[in-house]
Amino acid sequence: MDRDTINILCKQYCLNEQIIKYVNQKEKLILDKFQHIDQIKEYNQYKVLKGMQESKLNSTDFNWTTGYGYGDIGRDKVENIFSSVFNTEDALVRPMIASGTHAINLTLSGLLRPNDEFVSITGSPYDTLQKVIGVQGDNKGTLLDYGIKYREIPLKNNKIDINRVINDISNTTKLLLIQRSTGYSDRKAITIDEMKIVIEKIKENNKNIIIMIDNCYGEFIEKIEPTDVGADIMAGSLIKNPGGGLALSGGYIVGKKNLIEQVANRSTAPGLGKDCGLTFGTTRTVLQGLFLAPHVVAEALKGALLMGIVYKELNFEIIPDLEDTRSDIIQAIKFELPERVVQFCRGIQSASPVDSYVIPTPWDMPGYDDKVIMAAGGFIEGSSIELSADAPIREPYFAYYQGGLTYEHCKLGVMKSLNNLYNYDLIDKNKLT
Ligand SMILES: *Cc1c(COP(=O)(O)O)cnc(C)c1O
Repeated sequence: MDRDTINILCKQYCLNEQIIKYVNQKEKLILDKFQHIDQIKEYNQYKVLKGMQESKLNSTDFNWTTGYGYGDIGRDKVENIFSSVFNTEDALVRPMIASGTHAINLTLSGLLRPNDEFVSITGSPYDTLQKVIGVQGDNKGTLLDYGIKYREIPLKNNKIDINRVINDISNTTKLLLIQRSTGYSDRKAITIDEMKIVIEKIKENNKNIIIMIDNCYGEFIEKIEPTDVGADIMAGSLIKNPGGGLALSGGYIVGKKNLIEQVANRSTAPGLGKDCGLTFGTTRTVLQGLFLAPHVVAEALKGALLMGIVYKELNFEIIPDLEDTRSDIIQAIKFELPERVVQFCRGIQSASPVDSYVIPTPWDMPGYDDKVIMAAGGFIEGSSIELSADAPIREPYFAYYQGGLTYEHCKLGVMKSLNNLYNYDLIDKNKLT
């Protein structure tokens, strides 16, 4: 880093020079890991481009239709391209899917019928899904309310407990859910290698069981996706990885044709399925975002590594650790004190291009049981492929950092967060030198 940059960081961003030096010094220790990330990025860039070329995407596909939206060629091509990238028979990719939670809810409620059982085999699912299922909150319109049965099989030593899964499957078990990402937990993300082994074992005994993946935050981390190793259906959010920071909203569901058909019937109406529903001119940004996504995910991953090493070297526990195989873009840091979590998030917020002057505070966010603090000053509201951090205010006070459209921006986030902890005397200052 040259003197001009150090000067602007000190003057414009009120950073302590000691913090800048410390972060630059730690950055040197992770540079050798960037090559692996770049290799995956390059592969995925060509994979995405191939999908666009093969579907003969052309400039008029960005036009949009009105009314029912029958015969919307651009919408069909978006879905073809997602099928190609994720190596599936079919896809449902719509701007009306409000979030990742909505995409997962559509999938579960499209596939499950009363008395069917579904089992989460990665323990308790993500906070918002507990309300979808009905194990938290009230029961109105939840899966349990519709007579669907639900069970969880906890992880064993941070891995899917495959023997128990196979033993516990019964005649009524219709679907198994695997959550790839950490969520608000203290476990590592499930890797594709692990999923491959687990899915093969399950399919050996139970051909017809549906394996569904919550792929939020997992897209483009590796060269292949869960659907390349046998997952039947998978859902995620366009304001995370695959939207590349450009998609204005939306979610995707990819998988086997007969399954997507049922989900599409649930999303519009039986008989209408995928054939109608407007895109409101979002086709261009969805595809441009997908085109940039492999690059953006690589930037975010490099940022996660920097965040990881900077706090690890200050003696905080980090998940994943530096040498772990990453399977999502999240870097969790165990802060042990709520004040640290709050100041960390405020530091991230102050590095944002939008709402940088806003001071985030823990609040009762819809869908969550604990108070949650969220730092996000992105161009797309709530977009967590952009620089962001969040944390439920509960022990042991993990903060979850993710995103950043450019590595430089991630680095500023790292420095601003650390500077905040420094100013409030919440770190061991002796370790900085
Ligand atoms: C983000 C996320 C979801 C969905 O959350 P939304 O905020 O509704 O998009 C679901 N599962 C996991 C693991 C997630 O990270």
